[in-house]
Amino acid sequence: MSEQTRRILVLGSTGSIGEQTLEMARAYPERLAVVGLAAGRNARRLAAQAAEFGVDLLALADEASAGGLDVPDARVFAGADGICDLVAAARPDLVIGAISGVAGLRPLLVALEAGIDCALANKEPLVAAGGLVTEAARQSGAMLLPIDSEISAIFQCLRGEDPSEIEAVLLTASGGPFSGLSPEELQEVTPERALDHPTWQMGRKVTIDSATLANKGFEVFEVHWMFGVDVRQIQVVVHHQSIIHSMVQFQDGSVMAQMGPPDMRIPIQFALFHPERVANDLPRLSLTEVGSLTFAEPDTERFPCLRLAFSAARAGRSYPAVLNAADEVAVGLFLDGRIAFTRIPELIERALAEHQAFEVHRLEDVEEAGRWAREYVRDLV
Ligand code: NDP
Repeated sequence: MSEQTRRILVLGSTGSIGEQTLEMARAYPERLAVVGLAAGRNARRLAAQAAEFGVDLLALADEASAGGLDVPDARVFAGADGICDLVAAARPDLVIGAISGVAGLRPLLVALEAGIDCALANKEPLVAAGGLVTEAARQSGAMLLPIDSEISAIFQCLRGEDPSEIEAVLLTASGGPFSGLSPEELQEVTPERALDHPTWQMGRKVTIDSATLANKGFEVFEVHWMFGVDVRQIQVVVHHQSIIHSMVQFQDGSVMAQMGPPDMRIPIQFALFHPERVANDLPRLSLTEVGSLTFAEPDTERFPCLRLAFSAARAGRSYPAVLNAADEVAVGLFLDGRIAFTRIPELIERALAEHQAFEVHRLEDVEEAGRWAREYVRDLV
């Protein structure tokens, strides 16, 4: 193992981001050593990854699936606590946070509290508990690196810049697959249709969140917490081509944009090798092929999730944890065919309106707000 080899632990290794992270480990074996892998329940894929990368520290959140994991000589951790134990046991140089949903929060806190740098795709922890996450990083000195393409773009635009000179952050949004649909047509959207995203191949939850624009709202939290930017300084711009991944406007009127092909491997690689830019042979951007770049205002009448996220971000306290949990349950209900697409924002809005907010000081407060919102939304349906 060379001096420059980074020991990585991939949380959510069987998912879209996890697999693309492992593709990087495959491409740069001398630079990246996989020391641990964790997933939800996909024991078969986890076992294949463990065999390929020679990993002997594994975890599955689903205890029954963990029991069925057959990897010779591996230490297998089970359950949500098991994922946290894996982080402590592996002590990697870098944790890749690619679990879907707020389930990624506890292992992330364990890593940050232990001073382990984290590259984060998993945005829900920053939505539900951004203050706790950034405080854990600040106290231990661990670094939080973004993987999400928009947040990576902003991170790259801010390289060498003084954050106090930021005037605005312009978050770009593809607009989702349904930007052209009428309210009546939105009502009829099926899970199958919503899962067919035009630009990105992603996990189920984030695909639905992209279609409702909740995902863009979640990125508002990411920007706020990762870069300390006030929510009022964050604007969303619809940019259908997904070539500009986001922009930063400075106080002299200058705007910096980061561009690239819509390929998650680029921001994943940037986080894995940070601060180095490593050569690769991924497809390149051809602006002449793209032809034109367009920009428009988001429509928060038809896509209220974005407006709801902004208001929860401004309101703070336990509202963001409620937003996150209500969205998680509503998306699950939609995917199960139990509610219409347009009920997702309705349920979130009602949960936010009914919630008796409280201050969030510790993880238990986040969990309590989440529990309340889950029960509230389930009872409504
Ligand atoms: P996927 O659904 O493809 O993968 C999720 C991963 O998390 C799987 O490995 C899954 O395991 C695992 N997992 C699910 N539940 C648990 C749990 N309770 N405990 C431990 N592991 C669990 O999602 P994505 O890779 O698309 O997204 C992951 C995160 O990254 C999300 O927060 C998303 O918003 C964010 N993101 C994704 C992008 C993308 O392009 N995909 C872009 C930017 C951000 P199993 O397979 O066993 O169920």
